[in-house]
Amino acid sequence: MNTATMIEPSFRESVDMMFNRAVALMDLSPGLEEKIRVCNATYTVRFGVRLRGSIHTFTGYRAVHSEHMEPVKGGIRYAMGVHQDEVEALAALMTYKCALVDAPFGGSKGGLRIDPREWEEHELEQITRRFAYELIKRDLINPSQNVPAPDMGTGEREMAWIADQYRRMNTTDINSAACVTGKPINAGGIQGRTEATGRGVQYALREFFRHAEDIKAAKLSGTLDGKTVIVQGLGNVGYHAAKFLSEEDGCKIIGIIERDGALVSKDGLEVEAVRQWINKHGGIKDFPGATYVADGASVLEEACDILIPAAMEGVINLGNAARIKAPLIVEAANGPVTAGADDILRKKGCVLIPDMYANAGGVTVSYFEWVKNLSHIRFGRMQRRQEEARHQLLVDELERLSADKHLGWTLSPGFKENYLRGAGELELVRSGLDDTMRSAYQSMREVWHGREDVTDLRTAAYLVSIGKVAASYRAKGL
Ligand code: GLU
Repeated sequence: MNTATMIEPSFRESVDMMFNRAVALMDLSPGLEEKIRVCNATYTVRFGVRLRGSIHTFTGYRAVHSEHMEPVKGGIRYAMGVHQDEVEALAALMTYKCALVDAPFGGSKGGLRIDPREWEEHELEQITRRFAYELIKRDLINPSQNVPAPDMGTGEREMAWIADQYRRMNTTDINSAACVTGKPINAGGIQGRTEATGRGVQYALREFFRHAEDIKAAKLSGTLDGKTVIVQGLGNVGYHAAKFLSEEDGCKIIGIIERDGALVSKDGLEVEAVRQWINKHGGIKDFPGATYVADGASVLEEACDILIPAAMEGVINLGNAARIKAPLIVEAANGPVTAGADDILRKKGCVLIPDMYANAGGVTVSYFEWVKNLSHIRFGRMQRRQEEARHQLLVDELERLSADKHLGWTLSPGFKENYLRGAGELELVRSGLDDTMRSAYQSMREVWHGREDVTDLRTAAYLVSIGKVAASYRAKGL
């Protein structure tokens, strides 16, 4: 069919189409299928804040997709494009994402229609507190019912305001810190949350490259080392993913697409330097030592081994899917590939690592943060020194043996230091995240390779997660 004449569905319809493709291969009753698909509730709030001498009205949403487990979880986004269809699609993806990585939450998502760059910090604080107030008083922010987190346009700062607002309104709630995740460390956050989604993308790719059959399916070979990567969006997710892949795995970042254009360089871009440039100049234009392309989106179509859309939904669509050359796409953003584009890419043989898996690192570490807040103790606090003491015993014994028996053993340089160090919170968080990403990938690939009727990772991911959600509804007797 001529793609130019096809109509692109909305984001929520696109998620529903992918869901329908998967449930067609499952044996669910039509009633349960419908129950899982629909978004349970969406709350819309319009509130006024007096700023710059007049009252400004803002529109915000909190959608709850599935409460098969509570609390429900999902970020709050600040962007001008926020609307009901979008938050509902994103809330559905949260349900499937949490199920896939075994984070014990239902799915939710929120958004505020605002351009955060238009407002001063103290104004944003007022707006955020007011939005939070509206949600808190309806239990749409609550440690046991609904726990937001950062998303596009929000970060630690906004989460700290929300947590503080909740505390003011619930002064005797001992678990108040668990009402939101992605907080700064000094406000009850956890080490490694900010980098978590990007780190998860790196762990996802490392796991993919552990399986020869999967590498072959993407018509690639070898390891991550030397692979060429194009990343779209150098925000929190894209920046960390590109930074870790280039600094730790030997990937070459040959293209970075941002809102004001793209940078390309055959020799590879230094991610940290580009990020510093953006922070200083507000965009990538004039970055030295790379070619600037004004039509940033065209760079999505350049040849590379791995394409990482890490900005927003719908960037790979009916309009450009046929021209995408990358054999492997990692969806670091939520919904970057529309259902129609997904069909085209699959038919071309492109392998897509789906969003609900690829960007699940954020909610996984949010889960750790929530547990930390509820247990009121930092991970590793009890064990760290004890672990070190036991390691010290072993090292002392080896050294004693060597000296007593005149064996002349010397431990290799750095061994003692590395071995003796007990795991702190950051190491534990990374280890938990790595384990989560590995097991979730394996559960998807078992379905991908194990079933004749499943030919792609996205359908496999949906099958695994819908299966878990269905099981939990059935356990409730539904
Ligand atoms: N906003 C992130 C996501 O889309 C994180 C959600 C969370 O940590 O709850 O997955």
